[in-house]
Amino acid sequence: MLVRFWGTRGSLPTPISSVEIREKIVGALLAADGRRFNDADEAAAFVEGDLAFPIGNTYGGNSSCVELDLGEDEFMVFDMGSGLRPLGIDALRRFGEGRAKTFNIFMSHLHWDHIMGFPFFTPAFIPGVKLNFFGGHDQIEHALRRQQEKISFPVPLDFMNAEMTFTVLEPGEIHEINGCRVEVIKQYHDNDSYGYRVERGGKTFVYSTDSEHKGDDLEAENAFVEFFRDADLVIFDTMYSLGDSITMKEDWGHSSGLIAVDFCHRAEAKRLAMFHHEPLYDDKTLHGLLEETQRYEELMRGEHALEILCAADGLEVRL
Ligand SMILES: [Zn+2]
Ligand SMILES: [Zn+2]
Repeated sequence: MLVRFWGTRGSLPTPISSVEIREKIVGALLAADGRRFNDADEAAAFVEGDLAFPIGNTYGGNSSCVELDLGEDEFMVFDMGSGLRPLGIDALRRFGEGRAKTFNIFMSHLHWDHIMGFPFFTPAFIPGVKLNFFGGHDQIEHALRRQQEKISFPVPLDFMNAEMTFTVLEPGEIHEINGCRVEVIKQYHDNDSYGYRVERGGKTFVYSTDSEHKGDDLEAENAFVEFFRDADLVIFDTMYSLGDSITMKEDWGHSSGLIAVDFCHRAEAKRLAMFHHEPLYDDKTLHGLLEETQRYEELMRGEHALEILCAADGLEVRL
């Protein structure tokens, strides 16, 4: 299993600004400290090996879209934020290499930041492409149609040539999809959201975004621990700092890195990906939150160490 992050920002796509780019260049020049590079490869090696992540890179501009690449099989996609657009372009390249033209698309919910990439998903316009939508909500088709109605978008859904199917998945049941065992859990969020646990070949992937965890609901907490149990990767909504999530942003439907660590420790998960980044946070702030979460993990660690990463557009993680 290869997990590919195409969009990691929460709520709204967040392009990097000129001010931030200038800050990164200044940081890189200072880190280079007068060093000379003979060619582009030498300079690239320096950027890759010597610069801190937030100076040499950026976390994410596109809204939620994650791909679970199983190699030769059908595509597995989680949410259709603006990250779906670059995934669509890359899928065309892979069609050329003989890849199956079927996408299994799992929707956490139908908030705009999770469906806005679909009108720009090039494969949806190609005859012979099949799009199988899955979700806990029975209004997926309605939400996609409404998004492309005349006053909001020039091309209606019926203009798209791909064949589409819509399937509601019941939480608590085991579903067999594309050779995978798929389980669904209902999450606390405005109008509900759903998390996914996918198992195949002894590996387990969990996608759980737009989900708030209430400290006073022990039964729900235990259900999530079991849902994350022994996962190789848990993608978790860590939109807010802990302080924000328990004070002013209670009931906003999101969570924090520290809560994520507590759940993953109890579930003995192997890796945690911080996800659905707050649009207000720049790369330095996100990196700071990652380091704070890693320090908390070390402090709270029992027998099992948890590896923590901060999801970034373009990041690939092999399970
Ligand atoms: Zn969202
Ligand atoms: Zn949402």
